[in-house]
Amino acid sequence: MLVCTNCGGLVHMDRLNALAGEAMRAEEQNPLAAALLWRQALDLLPPDSRPYAEIHQRIGQLSAGMPVEAIPLVAPPALPREQRENDPLPLAVAKTVGSMLLSIVVYAYLLDGGWRFAAGFVGLMLVHEMGHVLAMWYYGLSASPPIFIPFLGALINLRQNPPNAKVEAIVGIGGPLTGTVGALICYGLYHYVPAMHTPLVLELAYFGFVLNLFNLLPVPPLDGGRITAAVSPWIWMLGLAGLVVWFFAQWYYHGINFILLLVLFFAVPRIRATLRPHGRDNPYYRISPAASWTIGALYVVLGVVLLLAKSETGKMLMRYYGHDIGI
Ligand SMILES: [Zn+2]
Repeated sequence: MLVCTNCGGLVHMDRLNALAGEAMRAEEQNPLAAALLWRQALDLLPPDSRPYAEIHQRIGQLSAGMPVEAIPLVAPPALPREQRENDPLPLAVAKTVGSMLLSIVVYAYLLDGGWRFAAGFVGLMLVHEMGHVLAMWYYGLSASPPIFIPFLGALINLRQNPPNAKVEAIVGIGGPLTGTVGALICYGLYHYVPAMHTPLVLELAYFGFVLNLFNLLPVPPLDGGRITAAVSPWIWMLGLAGLVVWFFAQWYYHGINFILLLVLFFAVPRIRATLRPHGRDNPYYRISPAASWTIGALYVVLGVVLLLAKSETGKMLMRYYGHDIGI
């Protein structure tokens, strides 16, 4: 407890004043010692307070000229409480449903599938996003509601950093997990419900598998990047290499793929920041081997299921259309 529940004052005020005094005296002669003293002060302050943000910035300035190994590890300041809170439920629902309707209209006009396909596909994206939302609710993380953006899919903006890579991975795998179940349900309906034995339902299953498989690519900021970081952020290098090869192959055969370009644009800085010597030692990535193995195994199983299901439904669609569907 950092703040007194009765008076609202800081519990460790005396200790903080002493640390601040020492740190300020040290700043001239020994900036590293000063940064380390300020670092101790941070532990005594609520992360969403103004002094926390100011001291955090000061540590950044003091350690700017130092070798990276010397910079004390500091958690970034949390957003102020009012920016961290979830939207009230009616507002959240309005944002999600409104952006879904917009996406359905855009897809219905611009894609060949018609409005039924557009509505079904956006519905499958919602099933994926709700997997993330459920995991975030479970861990009490605040985030924006899912917002649908035509041709980009849907985004959830975290308003709070997860406490460690394990929680981030579980939030990350929630989406592809429910999304895969959603696509498998379409596939089941196609097989077992005569009224649903239509190319449309099969197409929805196929694109559901494609959507979730794409999101499993092991690069941040995709879900696969968040999941594989719980095993090792080095897996991102594999994902990045694959993505670069895929991007240039697409460019050569079909022209620039802007979704891949956008993923690369966000992936490269995050990968560089995490894999540099200092970032690798971040305790954020130190999680139990049991959790690493479980998350890694689930990721592989999900990937294999999606690959097989995509290839199977792709072949079935080819029989309908007489040609490859091309994704
Ligand atoms: Zn996702």
